[in-house]
Order: sequence, then structure tokens, then C-alpha cells
Amino acid sequence: MEQTKTKKVIRYRGSELNTKGWLQEAALRMLMNNLDPEVAERPEDLVVYGGIGKAARNWGCFDAIVKSLKELENDETLLVQSGKPVAIFKSHEDAPRVLIANSNIVPAYANWETFHDLDKKGLMMYGQMTAGSWIYIGSQGIVQGTYETFAELAKQHFGGTLKNTITVTAGLGGMGGAQPLAVTMNGGVCIGIDVDETRIDRRIETRYTDVKTDSLDEAIRMATEAKLAGKALSIGLIGNASDILPEMLERGFIPEVLTDQTSAHDPLNGYVPSKMSLEAAALLRTNNPEEYVKKSKAAMAQHVQAMLDMMEKGAITFDYGNNIRQVAKDEGVENAFDFPGFVPAYIRPQFCEGKGPFRWVALSGDPEDIYKLDEVILREFSDNDHLCNWIRMAKEKIQFQGLPSRICWLGYGERARFGKIINEMVAKGELKAPIVIGRDHLDSGSVASPNRETEAMKDGSDVVADWPILNAMINAVGGATWVSLHHGGGVGMGYSMHSGIVIVADGTKEAEARIERVLTTDPGMGVVRHVDAGYELAKKTARERGVNIPMLEM
Ligand code: NAD
Repeated sequence: MEQTKTKKVIRYRGSELNTKGWLQEAALRMLMNNLDPEVAERPEDLVVYGGIGKAARNWGCFDAIVKSLKELENDETLLVQSGKPVAIFKSHEDAPRVLIANSNIVPAYANWETFHDLDKKGLMMYGQMTAGSWIYIGSQGIVQGTYETFAELAKQHFGGTLKNTITVTAGLGGMGGAQPLAVTMNGGVCIGIDVDETRIDRRIETRYTDVKTDSLDEAIRMATEAKLAGKALSIGLIGNASDILPEMLERGFIPEVLTDQTSAHDPLNGYVPSKMSLEAAALLRTNNPEEYVKKSKAAMAQHVQAMLDMMEKGAITFDYGNNIRQVAKDEGVENAFDFPGFVPAYIRPQFCEGKGPFRWVALSGDPEDIYKLDEVILREFSDNDHLCNWIRMAKEKIQFQGLPSRICWLGYGERARFGKIINEMVAKGELKAPIVIGRDHLDSGSVASPNRETEAMKDGSDVVADWPILNAMINAVGGATWVSLHHGGGVGMGYSMHSGIVIVADGTKEAEARIERVLTTDPGMGVVRHVDAGYELAKKTARERGVNIPMLEM
């Protein structure tokens, strides 16, 4: 047990319990892990990632959650409402230990103005996706998804590799910081622009980015040399994307690939307006939030216009899930949606097979537990070269942050099979402590987000939000250890609804049954959702793997 500099955030490790059972212990350790200074972007403010995505509403609520988890019995369920513990009810041993609802607002009022108003009154917090649902694992959580996106782009446009290409992106924060590494893992060169030098430094410290500069000319020179030499290189460029992209255009510099992962989903807290220092931005944000939002949205319009201009000149351009196109469109950039979102462009086929960012975390804190599970993946899924390559590369290149963890895109059937093996290994004492198994909300059957995960659905059902609700309900019934239902993650208030699950493999028979159920229903919802929308690959998956869908053949 080690206290971090945030004092209240404690690194619980090893096989000793601090609670009345491993399920509660898992929730406690994962809450702490979300806020571990090695993991969270601004732990002192309870901010985990993604703009103001928080793990608890305030420090008082944090203390009360910790106390509740320590006191929670094995047949009780703690309810958390937007980061505040509000009730403990008697349930039963197979029920979730925690149920979480974050940032949900009645649809007609679901916008940032209402949210900020409630937030100011202390009535709500922004849960993002994995921040408020305690399954964030640092930049590693997104890196495979980012890798898969760039790999698919490389396959579609550059013969399967990003070698000899330059990718320009912006935003090297908690999630966006995975981009430079994902590009170099695909053999390419990346210029990642961030207005905050400390964010770039963090990526360099954790080996997600190679070098940094504050000179555009220097960045272009280094990138071009590496591109011509066929070398992989990532460069952090300190600057504001809404200013730098037009400057690149002026110099006639057009990258092969272009995207963006600034926190544009949140114009007040996530995006810095054009030609403004960080200090001036912080001051304006506090003193005149309305003026800030106006300037921030105008800069986003300028940013998207430059992206469109670069696309016109040949850059393969895509939106990376931050809703920047919507803001630009609202600001008058009529054709902002001319470039596609990353899900319809590169990811949807994986969703049709129930695949998505599945992850596991070693509660022991011992990296050896993760390495042992790497070996299991290499053995059990040896026929899947792509997956095995990923595991080998991850082991070599990805530094752990906080509790050791691994991410791997597994689909329907694979998740339950792997989960049961993990549980067996815990039971036999082959691992030093139980394992937490979870996923991002950005998954195949857990999210309704018309500008992102459900953009351009085949049947036009982009805005239908019944799916994440069904997903949360069936997973709670199946006995997930904690289940969460959020609004506004990824793309901001009014634009998404999504749910999360975490299940703990503690080595018991009961856990085995719960794992079998939940790791089947959860990816199963992904297959079902895409069958319903008319995707042939999802129908094929359902037929081959026996997902029971009443109207499959009609
Ligand atoms: P974050 O808030 O940790 O980081 C955002 C970064 O953008 C910060 O480092 C900030 O300094 C930088 N920034 C802000 N304005 C800028 C500007 N004008 N020019 C250059 N840099 C600027 O957020 P995050 O967790 O990295 O997430 C980024 C965005 O991506 C969010 O909108 C999030 O919802 C979205 N997201 C996408 C995916 C995906 O797979 N596509 C997954 C998770 C999150």
C-alpha cells in the first residue's frame, strides 16, 4: 500500500483485502487506479481524461465512495449517481456490487449549458466513458483501437503499411496520446500537435512520442527526412492546431493522413482558441466562459476548414471521435461532414463480430500476471496472427501505467473463453490475485453516438439509444461486478448514450458462471445491434456462433 502525491489516492496492491470481498476490492483498486497520478491527466481535480471526465464528483464524494466500498457486504449493491454514492441496498451475491449512472439529462435539456449549470450547483459530474466507470487504464486503453484504425487505413490506402507516409493530428492528451505510437507501430511518421507542452512531455516520458519541437519548420523537416528514409518517427509539435494547419497549407505541406483528437467535444474545457496562450485561455475560461466558448468554436471551424482544404489537396482525412465536425457545421462550415468518422471508415466490420476494446487488469499490481496472460493469448489464439502480433508488440512497446493491464480486441465467443481461462488460473493460484476484466464504452453493442460509433448505420438507426440501455440491463442481470450507464461521453452532451461493464475473475465457481454469462451477452449485444441494422457480416457471425436472434432470417 502506497500513498500517491494526491494523498487520498492509495496504491493498493498484493493479495490482502481492504474490503469485505474481492468484488468490492476490485472497485476500490480501480477507482484508485483511475486517479493514480501515473494514469489520470489531472488527478488533483479528480479528472481522469477526455476534457473533464471525472472519477468522482468531488473529494467528499470520493471519500464516501471509498468508505462505502470498504463497508459493502457481499450481498449488497452501492448506487452511484454522477460520482456521488447515494444508496446501499441489499441485493444478492450474484448482483453487481456497484451500479453507476453518470451525466444523464432528460433529452430535451441535454446540452452543455444545462450540464454546466448542474455541475456548478454540485448536482452532476461528467463521467466521460471509462473515467466515471472506473475502468480507465491510461493511454494503453485506446492504443490498440488507434493501432487498428491506422492499420485498416494503411490497408485501404497504402498497401498495408504507413511506411513513407506522414500523419498529422492534434491533441496528445489521455486518449489522443496513443496516436503517435499507433502511427509508428504501423511504420509511419507522425506530427502530433498539442498546445500544452506538458502533455507532449508526458507522452515522451511514457514512450508514446519520440521527440518534440516548437518549430513548424523543424517538425516538417524531421518528418520529411524520416518519411523519405522509410523510418518510423513521432514528433510532438507545440502549437495550436487551428493556427498550425493553415500555416502548413500556406507552406504547401500536405500530409498523407490527417485527423484530430483535441477534446473538441467540450468547447469550454477541452479546446484552446486560436492564437491564445494557455494562461490567457485559463483566465478567459474563468472570467468569461461565454466569450471563451465563442472563440473556441470559431477556432474549431477554422481547424475543420483547414482539414477540408488539406483533404481537397489529397490528405486522407477522417474524424477521430471528438465531434469537431458538428461544431464546425454549427459554426457555418456547411460541408464539415465531407470527411468520414473513423468508425464507418475503418472499424465497423470489427463491431459486427462483437469485437472491441476488451481489457484486463492485474489487481496484484504484479506485471508477471499480465505476462502470463499474454502467453495464454499467444497459445489459445495462435491461429490469429494479427492478434498475436499485437500482443508481442504491446509487450515490447507499451509501458504500464498504474496497475499492470493489457488491451486486446476480442469478439463474441473469444471473450467468454478467455475470461474462463483467467478465472481458472486465479483459482489454481497461477496468478497472484484476481483479475479485473472490462472494456471501453466505445464498443460494439454498448453505445448510441450518431457522430461516432453509430454514424451512418446501414438502416439509418444512428440515433436509436435503446441499445446501450438493453446492454446495461442484460449485463446487470447476468452479474457483472459493476455496470454503468452514461450520457455525453466522447462527443459531448446531447450526442451519445453508452454503457460500461466490469467483471472480476476471483477464481470462484460463481465468478465462472457470471463470466460465462456476461462475456457472452455483452459482445452478443454488438452482434445483435449490427444484425438488426442489416450488416451481413453480423448475420454471418450470429449464424456461425449461434447467437439466438428471433428475426434473424426474416
Ligand atoms: P484530453 O482532454 O486528455 O486531451 C486533449 C488534448 O488536446 C490536450 O492535451 C489539449 O492540450 C489539446 N488541445 C486542446 N485544444 C487544442 C488546440 N486548439 N490545438 C492543439 N491541441 C489542443 O482528451 P483525450 O482523452 O485525449 O480525448 C481527446 C478527444 O478524443 C476527446 O474528444 C475524446 O472524447 C475523444 N476520444 C476519442 C476516442 C477514439 O477512439 N476516437 C476515444 C476516446 C476519446
